[in-house]
Amino acid sequence: MSEKLIKNNSYTFTIESLCGNGNGVAKYGENGFVVFIPCTAKDDIVKAKIIKLAKNYAVGKLEEIITPSPSRISSGCPHMAQCGGCSFQHISYEAECEIKKNMINDSFSHIGGLDLEISGFVGADSSSRYRNKAMYPVAEDKNGKLISGFYAAMSHRIKEHEDCLIGAEIFSKIKNSAVEILENLGISAYNEETKKGIIRCIYMRKNTKNEVLLTFIVNADTLGETKEKALCDTLTKKHSEIKGILINTNRKEGNSLLGNSWRTLWGDEYLYDTLCERKFRIAPGAFYQVNHDQTQKLYYIAKEFADIKEGDTVFDLYCGTGTIGIILAEKGIKLVGVEISKDAVKDASENAKLNGIDAEFICLDTGEALNTERLLNKKPDVIIIDPPRKGCGDDAVEKISSFGANRIVYISCNPQTLARDLVKFKSCGYEAEKAVGVDLFPRTGHCECVVKLTSNKNNI
Ligand code: SAH
Repeated sequence: MSEKLIKNNSYTFTIESLCGNGNGVAKYGENGFVVFIPCTAKDDIVKAKIIKLAKNYAVGKLEEIITPSPSRISSGCPHMAQCGGCSFQHISYEAECEIKKNMINDSFSHIGGLDLEISGFVGADSSSRYRNKAMYPVAEDKNGKLISGFYAAMSHRIKEHEDCLIGAEIFSKIKNSAVEILENLGISAYNEETKKGIIRCIYMRKNTKNEVLLTFIVNADTLGETKEKALCDTLTKKHSEIKGILINTNRKEGNSLLGNSWRTLWGDEYLYDTLCERKFRIAPGAFYQVNHDQTQKLYYIAKEFADIKEGDTVFDLYCGTGTIGIILAEKGIKLVGVEISKDAVKDASENAKLNGIDAEFICLDTGEALNTERLLNKKPDVIIIDPPRKGCGDDAVEKISSFGANRIVYISCNPQTLARDLVKFKSCGYEAEKAVGVDLFPRTGHCECVVKLTSNKNNI
């Protein structure tokens, strides 16, 4: 009989591995009872107190690092232990890439039972200051003073912070100025419990030229003409990077941060950015990848895998604002994009025009779109898919496969649903030929993977 753990007692553990959420995994006793200990690194020897004891696992709170792991670094982020954003601020970037590489390969073998490994993992040149988008929730502290920062891990409690190391430096500067001005103007913060108060979130986006679009997400239609003018005057005088200031009205009680109604208070309502030598218009509410430089690397790999030739018909499914299809498109191809969000489709059409590319965009669920005459009467040579985290699902995979394209390029932000969908593709006649991991989200538990699938009917 192995010794049992007791809640609130402290024990010494050796960390054997790290999960994607940054929790270290240790084993206890003869039967290897699993203990998760946040903020630890593989090979750390630590003292931890058992704060949760479930049937199959326990959770420990780190009390002391007895012997630090060689991969441990001093984080530099004072909020690492509380913030729900990053998982890997405390280990070297090389160790993080190794974990992500294994995470993808493990999904292929354990979930998919696939004989597939990534042929490379493309790490980032810089693991800090890469995010071109920031969403800072606003609240009042116990004295009624405005604070803004991040949500504590697994909660909706807002913690104040001065800076976020993975976000652009300019975001923190503008956020801190904005909070001060809002406070001086006497604008209250929205309270999730009472459903009262005005300002919910300070939301920013920037392009590679460091131009910023600043949005105040509010539980109101207006902040009042005088206050809105004072806000714009002060902020634009102080931060020349601001190119536009907008109000987004969100009166919904749930967790969704953005509402549907937008109003421009000052300057531009869009940003323009260059990605893979193409120009894109980005509406503040539309999907746009948050790591510009790594996205370029990802899309160039997708371009190589797609190997598009003149005259090809290309489907870009889950196309967002049309970025991938437009980047892959050369003159003389027929491009058809499918996307469920109306706003994104509007941007996609505009972006195709901006780049002189002939394209057709369909605003529908992918599965439904593939059943419409508009698509059924086309014969795609290449299909690009870039679904959200839940993946495509069996029905969509069957429909995609039934078009008989030579190649499918699957871009995924979730190795688990990717592995599941690859198994289905295999049963529909598509073999994964090559896969590469790309780290679009350094320091967090997420990464992307791009896979080239070829029809095994080509080999007959
Ligand atoms: N390819 C784009 C966007 C990828 S994000 C890019 O790289 O920028 C995934 C996109 O899928 C989002 O724009 C989302 O709105 C869209 N989407 C989600 N579910 C969908 C569905 N069922 N059918 C079509 N599009 C969907």
